[in-house]
Amino acid sequence: MNLSNLLDFQAKYAQRVKMESALNASAHKKNAQSQLDIVNSLKERTVSLDNEAAIAAGEYEKLSKTYEDTFSSLQKVLAKNIDDSAEAELASLSELSTKITNNLSIIEKRLQAVAGQINQILQDYNQTRAKYKAAGDKYKQSKADFEAEQAETAPKLTELDKELKAMEKGIDAEILTKYKAKTTAKIFPVLVPLRGNSCGGCGMELSTVVVGDIKKQSYADCEHCRKIVYGG
Ligand SMILES: [Zn+2]
Repeated sequence: MNLSNLLDFQAKYAQRVKMESALNASAHKKNAQSQLDIVNSLKERTVSLDNEAAIAAGEYEKLSKTYEDTFSSLQKVLAKNIDDSAEAELASLSELSTKITNNLSIIEKRLQAVAGQINQILQDYNQTRAKYKAAGDKYKQSKADFEAEQAETAPKLTELDKELKAMEKGIDAEILTKYKAKTTAKIFPVLVPLRGNSCGGCGMELSTVVVGDIKKQSYADCEHCRKIVYGG
């Protein structure tokens, strides 16, 4: 069988494969993907900071309430009429007010600590938002650049497909079907020459049966890499 038309077809098809793999290996595509990963992780971070802020705010509120309650209990102690109180009672009131005042100062320190924590979370949140926005902008730019690349390649691929379709008419239907099944299975190039008694694709030595088939019907499948090996 004369395989020259199929070899021409393969040469044209190789242009298509090259164009498609260049598009797949596009730096813009890679950049868009890595920026998208960054965007997603920053988004997760803002959500968790949001939760942390809510927890800290709740703690602050609780502490404020405790402070108020403690403060009003101190006021009550201080408002007691001490004029007619016995000395022992005075001593116990004084001890109580000191205790409450100490508590107030502990609560105040905790409030300050939680306020500092909230401030830290907010700062982190704002920085994360800014990074999120920057990564989002970079993602949009890379995506647009990749889409421009795709748009530029698409008509070239369509043109190649048209030419390939026209070339198919000059090729034996059976071997063309076989050929296409292999390209679908991501085998490329499909057609490789016989080199001595070895496959021109994978370089492995072929069995005498396969070499015999190639001599007889001008081609046969390599039993190692499944490419179609043709004889001269
Ligand atoms: Zn092979």
